[in-house]
Amino acid sequence: MADKNKKKNNNRNKDYDEDFNPKFRKQRKKVCPLCNDKNFVLDYKNLDQLRKFVNDKGKILPRRTTGACAEHQRDITLAVKRARHIAILPYTTKD
Ligand SMILES: [Zn+2]
Repeated sequence: MADKNKKKNNNRNKDYDEDFNPKFRKQRKKVCPLCNDKNFVLDYKNLDQLRKFVNDKGKILPRRTTGACAEHQRDITLAVKRARHIAILPYTTKD
């Protein structure tokens, strides 16, 4: 049953003109920033570096946003959590 629904959705998506519909704009594939730069060493004490991986609320950004591979996303998460523990990064912001 679930498969049937999926097929229907796929057919409907094909009807859209991909060039003109912003929802289905072609996405450039993101390259993992840590794999890309071999000299890049993730450091939990480096605030400027970690800022790229959290949003303004202090939440860790998802992989679809950071573009990191699974392995490096785990490293990023660990680094951010360590930075939070030593009070370099906030757990959350006051609103
Ligand atoms: Zn990577």
